[in-house]
Amino acid sequence: MANQTHKQNGLDPTDQVHKVGGTPSAYPPAWGSAGGRIFWLTLALFFLCLVALALWLLVRTPASTGEQGNRSGEPSVTEAMPAHADAPSTEAMAGEAVDPDAVRAAAVSATETEDSAGDGNIVYYRHRNDRMEIALSFDDGPHPRYTPEILSILAEYGINATFFMVGENVMYYPEVAAAVIAAGHEVGNHSFSHRRLSGLSEWEIRSEITRCEEALANVGECRPHLLRPPEGSMSATLRRLSGQMDYRLVLWDIDTRDWAHTPPAVISQQILDKVQAGDIILMHDYIGRDSPTPEALRLVIPELLQRGYHFVTVSELIDGA
Ligand SMILES: [Zn+2]
Repeated sequence: MANQTHKQNGLDPTDQVHKVGGTPSAYPPAWGSAGGRIFWLTLALFFLCLVALALWLLVRTPASTGEQGNRSGEPSVTEAMPAHADAPSTEAMAGEAVDPDAVRAAAVSATETEDSAGDGNIVYYRHRNDRMEIALSFDDGPHPRYTPEILSILAEYGINATFFMVGENVMYYPEVAAAVIAAGHEVGNHSFSHRRLSGLSEWEIRSEITRCEEALANVGECRPHLLRPPEGSMSATLRRLSGQMDYRLVLWDIDTRDWAHTPPAVISQQILDKVQAGDIILMHDYIGRDSPTPEALRLVIPELLQRGYHFVTVSELIDGA
């Protein structure tokens, strides 16, 4: 009371009415007062920040949980595919840049054996042998520039390799696919549109596999019997279907990460550091731009030959005793 009296005595009467007799600490404050404006503007700003944060989280989550990165690696589920900026179509091929497959593949190959699932469907990562045999494999092509370049390097050394082709790219570049076949290389099925098969229904998986077969049939390739699922993405349904459809599932032991534009010298050194007889080496003949793969091959092939390795196709490798 004493305080109130003091205030009343010292203030303008209108102010007194407002502060003492009215609503001195009205909450929330009225917009009309200077303090009220600051209060409401601050509150609005706070909620705007919250909304912005929520939107950012929404946009970001799908990408980080996987779906479309870039293609390359292996067995499990969420991964990104390597970037195929130039790929003729599909979002699947269009641009990602990361290949979680590789990470997965590494984890899987370290812990699983060739007959990993124990379900009778063998998944081939390698096939150890005492003949110093190894297999080069090239995914995602054919590509109008890099595939011919790789073909010419392989021809220079008299090497046969295995090309896991994407049906859609075979349709775009049939003459390049035909050149691979004519050169005597092995061709494998890498799906029609490079979708992650583990997330698809049985009907969809079957469609991806058979449409790739049809594309290959149109360029003269007999039906392939090797299947490498995009990104190494595996599922029980895929394992069962591949068995029913007479396919052998092939992954890899060494991922060169060429799709991530790893420098050629690094690719070459990593192969030389890890290689053992029986390895299946993963590379790509379809990379959107600036592929390091041809140059890496020029570096590593002579070195591997000098160490006594022999290059065979994947089928020759896994059929060898
Ligand atoms: Zn691929």
